Amino acid sequence: MSTRPFNFSAGPAVLPEAVLQQAAAEMLNWHGSGMGVMEMSHRGKEFIHIYEQAEADFRELMAIPSEFKILFMQGGGLAENAIVPLNLSRGLAADFVVTGGWSQKSAQEAGKYCQARVAASNQANGHTSLPAPSSWRLNADAQYVHICSNETIHGLEFHELPDLQALGCRAPLVIDFSSHVASRPVDWSKVGLAFAGAQKNLGPAGVTLVVVREDLLGHALDICPSAFDYRLVAQHASMYNTPPTFGIYIAGLTFQWLKQQTEVTAEGVALHGVAAMQARNVAKAELFYNYLDRSSVFESRVAPSARSRMNVPFFLKPELEAQRGPALYESLLSGAKAAGLLQLKGHKSLGGLRASLYNAMPLAGVQALIAYLQAFEKTGL
Ligand SMILES: *Cc1c(COP(=O)(O)O)cnc(C)c1O
Repeated sequence: MSTRPFNFSAGPAVLPEAVLQQAAAEMLNWHGSGMGVMEMSHRGKEFIHIYEQAEADFRELMAIPSEFKILFMQGGGLAENAIVPLNLSRGLAADFVVTGGWSQKSAQEAGKYCQARVAASNQANGHTSLPAPSSWRLNADAQYVHICSNETIHGLEFHELPDLQALGCRAPLVIDFSSHVASRPVDWSKVGLAFAGAQKNLGPAGVTLVVVREDLLGHALDICPSAFDYRLVAQHASMYNTPPTFGIYIAGLTFQWLKQQTEVTAEGVALHGVAAMQARNVAKAELFYNYLDRSSVFESRVAPSARSRMNVPFFLKPELEAQRGPALYESLLSGAKAAGLLQLKGHKSLGGLRASLYNAMPLAGVQALIAYLQAFEKTGL
C-alpha cells in the first residue's frame, strides 16, 4: 500500500497511484515500441491506439450517447470560456447562471463574443447556495445556457442538472464540469455540451475534454481560430493539430483505472466505474461534512443542499477566525504538511482551508484529515 502523503490539492491534483506507477514503468518504452509516449507521432499506429482506447473508455465510463462527439483539446477550462461562445453563440446571446468564481469568469469572457446575460446569481448570499432553476430568468433568444456544475473555489455542486426543456427553454445546456467530471454519472439528455480541464479528476494539465452534441457543430463564428472550431476538431478526431498526447495517455490510464473500480452497496448491489466512484464520493463527503457540522472550531459555509462532494472549503468559526485567523491557519497548514496532509490552503479569494476529495482520494485520506483536525481542536488552539 501507499506510503505517499494524502494530497488535497484542488488542481492539478492527486492521481491514482496505479496510474502513476504504470506511466513510470512505460515511460521509456511503451509496450515494446522502443518509444516513450511523449516521443511518438500522434499519427502513428501506437498513439492512434492509445487515443481510440481512451475515447472508447471515456464514452463507456460516462455512458455518452452516440450523437455526442468527444474532443480532446488544449487551452484548459479558461480557453473553453471563449471557445464555447465562438462556436455556439452565433454572435447573438447566451444566458449564464453565476454561482461562483468559475461561472463568473465564463460569463465575462463570453461577453467578448456575444451578449452574455446573467439569468440568475447567488452573489447576494456570497455564493453559498444555488438559485432554484425555476427562478432563472432565461431568455428566448439565448443560444445556450451556461452553468458551472461544480464550483471548485466556492465549493458548490449541482447535485442534479437543470432540465431546461421542463423550464420551457429550448437552448442547449452547457456545463463546465471540470472539477467533478467522472465523479458521478451525467444525464446526457439534459446536456448539449460539457467541458472539463483534465487536471482536477482525470490527468495532467494540458488536455481538455469536450463532449458536444453533433447538431451544435458547424456554427462557429468566422473569427473562431480553426484549431478551436469544434466541427474541424471533430472531423479530424482531435488531430486537426497535434493533440496533447501525453495528457491523453494519462487520462486514458485513469479511465482504465476507473473502469476497474467496484463498490458493493449495503444492499449487496455491485457498482462499477463511475457509479462506484459516486458511492465512494458520497461516503467521503458525508463523513467530512458531518465532522465539520459537529465541530466547535471549524465550519462549512455552504448550504447543505449545495455542498460540493469534490471541493470542500472550510473555515475556523467566525469569532476564532476574527481573533486569530492568520496565525491559526498557518499553524494548521504547517502541522498538516508534517502529518502528510498536503495542499489544504484555501483559494486566495476566500482564504481559510479547502480539501478537495477527488476520485483518487481514498476514504483513508479523509479519515486522516479528520483525525488531524480533531487533534488540532484539542491541542492546537
Ligand atoms: C480549474 C477550473 C477551470 C480552469 O481551468 P484551466 O485549465 O486553468 O483553464 C475552469 N472551470 C472550473 C470549474 C475549474 O475547476
